[in-house]
Amino acid sequence: MEQPPHSDFLQRARADLESLEARSQLRSLEVVPGINFYSNDYLGLSTDGRLREAVTAALAGGSPVGATGSRLLSGHAAAWEELESGFAEFAGTEAALYFNSGYAANTGLFGCVLKPDDVIFSDSANHASIIDGMRLSGARKVIFPHLDLNVLESELRLAAPARGQKFIAVESIFSMDGDRAPIAELLDLAERYGAEVIVDEAHATGVLGPHGCGAVAAAGAARRVLAVVHTCGKALASTGAFVACSDVLKQYLVNHARPFIFSTAQPPYIAAQVRAAIGIVATADSERSRLLQIAVHLRARLRDNGFDTARSDSQIVPVMVGDNEAALALAARLRKDGFAVRAIRPPTVAPGTARLRLSLTAKHTIEIVDRLTDSLVRARDQIGLARCSQAG
Ligand code: PMP
Repeated sequence: MEQPPHSDFLQRARADLESLEARSQLRSLEVVPGINFYSNDYLGLSTDGRLREAVTAALAGGSPVGATGSRLLSGHAAAWEELESGFAEFAGTEAALYFNSGYAANTGLFGCVLKPDDVIFSDSANHASIIDGMRLSGARKVIFPHLDLNVLESELRLAAPARGQKFIAVESIFSMDGDRAPIAELLDLAERYGAEVIVDEAHATGVLGPHGCGAVAAAGAARRVLAVVHTCGKALASTGAFVACSDVLKQYLVNHARPFIFSTAQPPYIAAQVRAAIGIVATADSERSRLLQIAVHLRARLRDNGFDTARSDSQIVPVMVGDNEAALALAARLRKDGFAVRAIRPPTVAPGTARLRLSLTAKHTIEIVDRLTDSLVRARDQIGLARCSQAG
C-alpha cells in the first residue's frame, strides 16, 4: 500500500538512511556469492547429511511441524527436556534451558537476573544481545575497555552497591575481534570482589575445549560461573541457544525470562536436530584442531603481508582497516576474486575500527586461505592502502 507523501515518519526515515549512506554505514540484505568467509558455520555442518536425517526422521516419526504455543503452554515436549538434560551434561552444568535464539537467551537472562540496584561490569566489545539485556534490566552499567582486567579490577574495587550485587559479562571468543577472555583469571578476580560471572560462548560452542564444550567447561569452571550462554546457530549449525546453569537459575528463568515465557516454542523436530548436532560436534576433535590450525596459518600469512589481525586467537580473524569506505572497497575487490567477505562497520564495531571479519570453517583449506591472502594483498595495492606499521 502506498504511504501518504506527507508522512513525517517516512521523511525522517529517508533522512536517516541517506545519512547512513553518506557515512558508508548503510546496511542492506544481500546474498554474496563466492567462497564463504563470512559464515559462522565453523565446523561446516550446515549442509551435513546427518543433521538432515535427524530432522527427516523426527518428522517421519510424527513430530509436529508447529509448536502450537510457548513452552509454558502447549509448546512443551519430552524432546525439549531430553535435549536440555543432554546439553547440561555436555556443558558440565546442573541444568540448561533452551531459548529460541541467542538474542532471546541473552535479553531474557540479563533482563531478569539483574535488578536496578545491581552493577553489571561489561566488556566494551560485548554483543548487542548482552547490551540490550542489560538495558532492559535497569541495572547500573560499568563498561570496561575490551579485555582490560586492570581497569575491571579498579572498577570492581570502586563499586560498592548499597543493596545490589555485582555481575561481570564477557564473551569467551569475541565475535568481531576473535580474541579470547582469560576465563580462569577473570574468575579469580570475580571471586575476590564477590561478583557473579556470565559468559557468552556463542563463538566457542563446538569450537573450544574437549568435545567442543566451550572455554568455561574446558577451564573446569562450569560451576564457578552463574551462567554460560551457548548458541546453536553457529558451530552447531542449527538454531536457538542454551543458558547452561544451576537448577535454581533454570527455574528462575522459566518464571521470569520474558522471551522464554512469551514466545512460541520452536517445533520439536528442531530439538532432534540440535541433539544430533551436539552428538556430531562432541566427536569432531580433528575438525576443531584443523579449524584452529588453518586460523594460525591465515593469521601468519596476513601478518607477514603487513595486515593487522588485532589480537585474534580463534577461527575469527579480523583484518583491521579503520575507514568504512576502505573496508567496503576491500570487500568489493575480494568479491571480484570469488571470495564472499563482509565489511564490518559501526555501529557493529566502534567508530574508526571498520574491518573485514574473516571467519573460517573446518571445510576451508590452506590453499584457499593462501589464495584469499594473495587477493587481499592485490586489493590493498589497487586501492592504495598502506601496510600496517606494527605488522611483521
Ligand atoms: N551472542 C553473540 C556473541 C553473538 O555473536 C550472537 C549472534 N551473532 C548472539 C549472541 C545471538 O545469537 P543468535 O544468532 O542465536 O540470536
